[in-house]
Amino acid sequence: MMNACAEKRANVSNNFMIQGKLIIFSAPSGAGKTTIVKHLLKTFPQLSFSISATTRPLRGDEVHKKDYYFISKEEFLHKVAKHEFVEFEEVYSGTFYGTLKSEIQRIWNEGKHVIFDLDVEGGLRLKKKYGAHAIAVFVQPPSIDVLIERLRGRGTDNEDRLSERIEKAEKELSYAPQFDYILKNHDLQTACREAEEMVSNFLNSH
Ligand code: ADP
Ligand code: 5GP
Repeated sequence: MMNACAEKRANVSNNFMIQGKLIIFSAPSGAGKTTIVKHLLKTFPQLSFSISATTRPLRGDEVHKKDYYFISKEEFLHKVAKHEFVEFEEVYSGTFYGTLKSEIQRIWNEGKHVIFDLDVEGGLRLKKKYGAHAIAVFVQPPSIDVLIERLRGRGTDNEDRLSERIEKAEKELSYAPQFDYILKNHDLQTACREAEEMVSNFLNSH
């Protein structure tokens, strides 16, 4: 017979034991997730970043196996067929992103909790799967105009990719109320401080 504690850790789905917590950051591209997640990783040594697989090409100074597992579309679809993803999305037309089951397991095996940077649909899907073991945070920019400014300022996307991201952002902003927590990212320092407090409370909860 499983005791209550073991039951709590037991599998909710996907034949995979829950061995740690999941902290999910979602938002439209350019809202500041990556910046805030990097800050949290420096602040909390017990967190480790879930490196997603993607079919998009490397951007700026990104590094394979650090920022993403950059793989071909064929390899990605092969992994889909083998049920290797806990979730995946065609975030932009023809461009896939997904969280590998093996990645979450790798981090839990290290005794750490997992922090994710996912699109809004993927973020909500993971939250639904892991319930109280997960917290889903929506990073909200002050306005769509500021979001566009940040995307342009980042300077990593060509005009086509920028338009695609801006177009998608309007719809994504409407998902905010479905998240556990809305983190306003107006002033970065304030947002980072608020994020720290929220993560600390979640990690210290049962
Ligand atoms: P995302 O991961 O959500 O796509 P990024 O973290 O890459 O967003 O942030 C997009 C750009 O906006 C980056 O150039 C980043 O330095 C900048 N940025 C993030 N937060 C703020 C903020 N509060 N104020 C001004 N610029 C910001
Ligand atoms: P970017 O190309 O700017 O790195 O990411 C584009 C979008 O894909 C972002 O919203 C990012 O959060 C999302 N994303 C990154 N990895 C994953 C993933 O594994 N699954 C899902 N659903 N979205 C992801």
